[in-house]
Amino acid sequence: MDLTKYVQAVSLEDFGKPFRHQAVWNRRLRTSGGRFFPHDGHLDFAPRILEEYGEALFRQIVRHELTHYHLYFEQKGYKHGDADFKKLLKEVDGLRYAPPPKQRTVHEYLCRECGQVFQRQRRINLERMRCGACGGRLKIREIGLKADDGG
Ligand SMILES: [Zn+2]
Ligand SMILES: [Zn+2]
Repeated sequence: MDLTKYVQAVSLEDFGKPFRHQAVWNRRLRTSGGRFFPHDGHLDFAPRILEEYGEALFRQIVRHELTHYHLYFEQKGYKHGDADFKKLLKEVDGLRYAPPPKQRTVHEYLCRECGQVFQRQRRINLERMRCGACGGRLKIREIGLKADDGG
């Protein structure tokens, strides 16, 4: 997908106004689906939204960021708490909050003997599995993936 072209199309079809800046993917966005940068007008989007939830929901995230975008350049209330923002977001059927990341738990294992750390997506059998470095027994430690925030 050419992201900027996609955002241009959504802007014309759903707002009736052109999008004149750049849209770029940002994999570091975790809890938010996108972000608007007033200083240069560009938009960031989290590819996870498209990957995990599909195009229909991603389009609602694009509408959210375009709501910030158009209101800002029209010198109206473009922030989440502003009446202009709430009104326009509702009109275009934008999404107020990005859906949460479908985080996979990463299972982390630690060798009891040498301290070597292993990460696996799936649980492993601790009775059978031994440390690849020293042959020692492993113990489990579970961690989640970290999330940041944005708008
Ligand atoms: Zn070991
Ligand atoms: Zn926002």
